[in-house]
Amino acid sequence: MAIKITDECINCGACEPECPNNAIYEGSDDWRFADGTRLSGKVILPDGTEIDANEAQEPLSDDIYFIVPNKCTECQGFHDEPQCQAVCPVDCCVDDPDHRESEDVLLIRQAFLHNE
Ligand code: SF4
Ligand code: SF4
Repeated sequence: MAIKITDECINCGACEPECPNNAIYEGSDDWRFADGTRLSGKVILPDGTEIDANEAQEPLSDDIYFIVPNKCTECQGFHDEPQCQAVCPVDCCVDDPDHRESEDVLLIRQAFLHNE
């Protein structure tokens, strides 16, 4: 499953640079699929949704750092464990029960975000 940030977040910013998918954003920041990935322009996500990778998307939180589920791979393909969980000083990066995904799905996402 993807990882989510709870409202225990103290906005320290330690997790953001550790994410290999650029899936973590500061509260109230716009986000883009193109940030930190190979994606550009019109693309079709693995789930069939068509998006514009360069289009600014609404922040998922206005107050605390947030993780974009469609960009999080639980660090599959890069690291043995979720890097945000590893560095968070208050342990507020937790499994997201609303986004339970298999390792296969996560690896497909990782390849989609970064490989041709
Ligand atoms: Fe990024 Fe990994 Fe945390 Fe997902 S688990 S948000 S890919 S650092
Ligand atoms: Fe929030 Fe933890 Fe990230 Fe710091 S490391 S910004 S406390 S989620």
